[in-house]
Amino acid sequence: MQKNTITSFHPLERTLMGPGPSDVHPRVLEALSRPTIGHLDPLFIGMMDELKQLLRDAFQTGNEVTMPISAPGSAGMECCFVNMLEPGDKVIVCRNGAFGGRMLENVIRCGGEAVIVDDPWGRAVDPEKVEQALKANPDASLLAFVHAETSTGALSDAQTLAKLAHEHDCLTIVDTVTSLGGVPLKVDEWKLDAVYSGTQKCLSCIPGLSPVTFNEAAMEKVSKRQSKCQSWFLDLSLILGYWEGEGKRAYHHTAPINPLYALHEALCILHEEGLENSWQRHRQQHESLKAGLQELGLELSVPEAERLPQLNAVRIPEGVDDASVRAQLLNDYNLEIGAGLGDSAGKLWRIGLMGYSANAGNVLYCLSALKKVLRQ
Ligand SMILES: *Cc1c(COP(=O)(O)O)cnc(C)c1O
Repeated sequence: MQKNTITSFHPLERTLMGPGPSDVHPRVLEALSRPTIGHLDPLFIGMMDELKQLLRDAFQTGNEVTMPISAPGSAGMECCFVNMLEPGDKVIVCRNGAFGGRMLENVIRCGGEAVIVDDPWGRAVDPEKVEQALKANPDASLLAFVHAETSTGALSDAQTLAKLAHEHDCLTIVDTVTSLGGVPLKVDEWKLDAVYSGTQKCLSCIPGLSPVTFNEAAMEKVSKRQSKCQSWFLDLSLILGYWEGEGKRAYHHTAPINPLYALHEALCILHEEGLENSWQRHRQQHESLKAGLQELGLELSVPEAERLPQLNAVRIPEGVDDASVRAQLLNDYNLEIGAGLGDSAGKLWRIGLMGYSANAGNVLYCLSALKKVLRQ
């Protein structure tokens, strides 16, 4: 008989400087190992209420409807689309990278009519093109865009885009998966309507949860639906039966108990540091990475004014083999950086400085490892 050779899985300690997940804070890993309790236990419900408040602070919102969806960022995206869209709704979708493309896919699958505003990968969404599309489509009801395009490293002006949308009677669906905690994001001040994010980027939490927040205008659109939400699991009216209400909470699905402890801990860490300080730290580490890359003769591909500090797209020099550099970094230095996506595959590296990974030690480590590998 063959001996069973499968034993416990013990991954190596890597330094995660790709497009996510980022390094998880040790306090978050510790929180995960705390005792699992019931998802309707009064102690747990108390923790959920704190979690909602911590998320409101991170999103800079007073929105009542603010909570994590029990699935990764892509589920938060889908939650926004399946609740906000009804078949036949016209949606203007901005596509300047891979995630804008996924938004488009969501619109199509919800039976919406999509109007695409394309911008080159590596550039911000152009507000002028968006304004033209809004003018040309007065019957559109939604504008969807990605605030921080992790696939390219470009940051778009969410405040301006939301203002344009509202001037044309549209609500907004905004992807803030990579922006939350890493760059200024002000849901109330900028009047963003339906917003989703992720936990494994600048919050330094584990993957698998998606914070969402909906303002009153968004909830009004949801409550006026003529048709049932096409997804049972992501139907907000059902999810809210579990996340809201004084004391009485209805079972919807078993909440991911320990991952929610982890998110609570990650948000406590963010709160202790201060949101502005966290933005500042990401900016500072980006500046020092940029200076070091310049010394190595490496350039960033996104124009300076549109750059995301937490995702640095670096041009791969002529004659350098992308895959072998990344493999050496991983195998010899336990360092993960990201590959280019789509057209930029083989042309760009994506170096993440997200959450706990955005620290001076990591920047030095990445620069010196890159220098060694490139010299070989
Ligand atoms: C990572 C990411 C997502 C998807 O999140 P998952 O947790 O991988 O599902 C969506 N949008 C953006 C901008 C992202 O960076």
